Amino acid sequence: MGFRGIVIEQTVDGGRIREHSAELRDLPESFLDGSGGDAPVDVDVLYSGVNYKDGLAVSGKPGVVRTSPLIPGIDLVGRVSASADDRFSVGETVVLTGGGAGEATHGGLAARARVSGDYLVALPEGLDARRAAAIGTAGLTAMLSILALEHEGADPERGPVVVTGAAGGVGSVAVAVLASLGYRVIAATGRADSEAEYLHRLGAAEILDRRELSEAGPALQKRSWAAGVDTVGSNTLVNVLARTQDDGAVTACGLAQGADLPGTVMPFILRGVTLVGINSVTASRELRQRAWERLSSDLPADLLDEMTTEIPLDDVPARAEAILHGRVRGRTVVSLA
Ligand code: NDP
Repeated sequence: MGFRGIVIEQTVDGGRIREHSAELRDLPESFLDGSGGDAPVDVDVLYSGVNYKDGLAVSGKPGVVRTSPLIPGIDLVGRVSASADDRFSVGETVVLTGGGAGEATHGGLAARARVSGDYLVALPEGLDARRAAAIGTAGLTAMLSILALEHEGADPERGPVVVTGAAGGVGSVAVAVLASLGYRVIAATGRADSEAEYLHRLGAAEILDRRELSEAGPALQKRSWAAGVDTVGSNTLVNVLARTQDDGAVTACGLAQGADLPGTVMPFILRGVTLVGINSVTASRELRQRAWERLSSDLPADLLDEMTTEIPLDDVPARAEAILHGRVRGRTVVSLA
């Protein structure tokens, strides 16, 4: 029985992508042969998503696709149809985020998937398939960032938290969870005109124009927040650090502005600020499970629904372009059922 899915084909020459195509195709079952390692789990996919990384992969930008042909999609939620892995049984609903799916191995933007069980978790209690997909890698990354801030002693009493790229996927989940935990959230966005109301609905107390953070500034600046969740990198992250109170902490997970870090050590050595890196792809199973539990309890379902847009598989290429241009609000789920 065949299935529909997006397939990326690339030819790479000297590290540069020469030819790229991403198209919806009818695929034979054998397309998945060899996927999923020694103990593969077959999944009928219910939902996938469009993350920033999927935007890069589908649009032919370098850095994500490591094999060709490839079904993209770093997230999936689906029902197990066959399993060679004792940890998962037929009929169980499972969630996959990262782990190389949609990069080095076939991912979730197709009706069928064959994946390694190492990065699968059972659908967390309290979430349905669509909401788990809506959270996806971006939401998991937001929660991993918050867990890291808590580990560094963050507390609503210590002061506000700034979230950069606030109207994006990671940012929206971070704003909603932090606000529901009682933090005063400062949402930094480049789209205040269109998204301020949305961000207030998610719980942001204050909107900051991202231009205030995007140019190079002094090494130390007015103390403005106790902690930060940065999804943007570059000058923005440097300015977030320079405006963090003494002994505060900032997480870095993204590079929407740039991968550079053009700053000084001053916030670290004069204010004791901590910079914590977040990598959802390699986070341990234990940490991912803890993050999913916390998402299930601390992310209000109505706010998750508010930030979610559902699209069919056919609309993925256009959505991929939109996410790269910063035009997507919140999270995108792709319906495959
Ligand atoms: P989105 O595209 O949904 O959000 C990114 C947001 O960043 C945009 O919505 C926009 O927010 C802001 N932004 C875009 N361009 C710029 C710019 N030039 N300068 C400043 N801000 C900008 O992506 P995601 O939320 O899915 O991912 C965010 C980042 O996190 C990406 O870089 C992604 O690769 C990374 N990521 C990393 C993970 C990890 O494990 N380390 C996992 C998941 C994501 P606004 O319009 O509000 O300004």
